[in-house]
Amino acid sequence: MILEHHFASLGEAFSSKTLVQPLFEQRLVEFNQSLATLLSIDIKSTETKRILSGEETLPSSLSMVYAGHQFGGFSPQLGDGRGVLLGEVRGQDGLLYDLHMKGAGPTPYSRRGDGRAVLRSCIREYLASEAMTALSVPSSRALALYDSREAVYRETPEAGAMLLRVAQGHIRFGHFEYFFYQGKQAELDQLIEYCLTHYYPDCLATESPLESMLIAVVKRTARMIAKWQSIGFQHGVMNTDNFSFTGETIDYGPYGFMEDYEPDWVCNHSDHEGRYAFSRQPGVGLWNLNCLMRCFSKHLERDQLIAILQCYEPELQTHYDSLMMSKMGLNSVQDMHELLPELFTILAAEKMDYSVFFRLLSHFEQGGFMLLLDEVVDRERLSNWLERYELARMKNDLAWPKVSASMLAVNPKFLLRNYLAHDAILAAERGDYLPFRRLLNVLITPFDEHPESDVLAQRAPEWGRSLEVSCSS
Ligand code: AMP
Ligand code: MG
Repeated sequence: MILEHHFASLGEAFSSKTLVQPLFEQRLVEFNQSLATLLSIDIKSTETKRILSGEETLPSSLSMVYAGHQFGGFSPQLGDGRGVLLGEVRGQDGLLYDLHMKGAGPTPYSRRGDGRAVLRSCIREYLASEAMTALSVPSSRALALYDSREAVYRETPEAGAMLLRVAQGHIRFGHFEYFFYQGKQAELDQLIEYCLTHYYPDCLATESPLESMLIAVVKRTARMIAKWQSIGFQHGVMNTDNFSFTGETIDYGPYGFMEDYEPDWVCNHSDHEGRYAFSRQPGVGLWNLNCLMRCFSKHLERDQLIAILQCYEPELQTHYDSLMMSKMGLNSVQDMHELLPELFTILAAEKMDYSVFFRLLSHFEQGGFMLLLDEVVDRERLSNWLERYELARMKNDLAWPKVSASMLAVNPKFLLRNYLAHDAILAAERGDYLPFRRLLNVLITPFDEHPESDVLAQRAPEWGRSLEVSCSS
């Protein structure tokens, strides 16, 4: 493993030197071999193992400083309160990846926090980030999970853990806000240069590299959120310090994958006003980008910044349309637009499970039609919709088996349901990682049938419908 230290080379204004502080009786309990292969990391090497786990002192490891709009209010100084960037590694795909340890102990930005993470939240992040990757959503990933015998105090004492995660970048919108609101122009310019060099090198050759890069950021963010909306993912804490400049989903906390279709669903129980409700995510994405653009008001004219922001909506809409067309097996946007609003009304009225519906729709000609009607109270209304849908689908030139196969490749059988995560967490807390591994195994190949794991495709039992997740983890 060749660890590079590009971010560290930016200097002291950007971070503080911080070492990972291993936990008491820490154990490596899960390791992501396919990701390690991409990163050319050999976990069998004792030295690599020690570096990754924080047992080896890495003089260049650091915690980043940033700011951010949290639930609408500006916090001028935040930072990695419990995360340490070990450095970067070059993947076999030529891209640079950050290695970042979450729960690594106190940092200069921990404020009143203990710098730790609990096993529960590390497992939730591991499962979600790998599930999102399998669903083709740009996301940070999980490389390794460590548990320990160290107690970490939340509402009750819990098991302390660390998650080694990987993302192309951990630079957040809040990084730019930090320097902009302090009037640190030179550092802001340095950060722009850094991002152009490492993340958006193609923009360097254009007439206005900054403008091109910002358009790319807007478009990546739009596409990321289009994906969230199409799969029913809700982030839960869309603060600007949790929004990555590389358009990846990061900082999994009180997230949720939509089960019963409910557009105004709020997964985070700390979000009392529903600021980050599912249906609001596209609007919040734009709000966050607007915060980001303000940071470049000394570099670009107002009109230019507005024009950049105007790329957001069409990009999101186009991408969302094409994702929903694939989910429905249609090839006409117009037909999709005519069918989708009524479908959403039916799903909401029936509180139908979002992913189960699309999976059944993908089996339509194999008896799925009746199965679908059995799911609802108002059979006539769904039956009318299905008739219209069938007419639209017949316009697809491909033979049904091909359409079905393409739908089954985008409509997952397995979803990270809260109750499944909950079961896996309870077992892991007892030292049994088998349920976690079984669940992970279906989530990383969610479109396969896995008949032996049918039980993991089932909807939540009554007890599992009222589980709460909140910001504290
Ligand atoms: P999050 O919503 O998890 O991204 O956290 C918001 C901010 O609080 C980030 O700057 C975190 O680093 C920080 N934070 C969360 N939990 C802790 C903790 N236990 N100790 C120190 N800082 C924390
Ligand atoms: Mg965060």
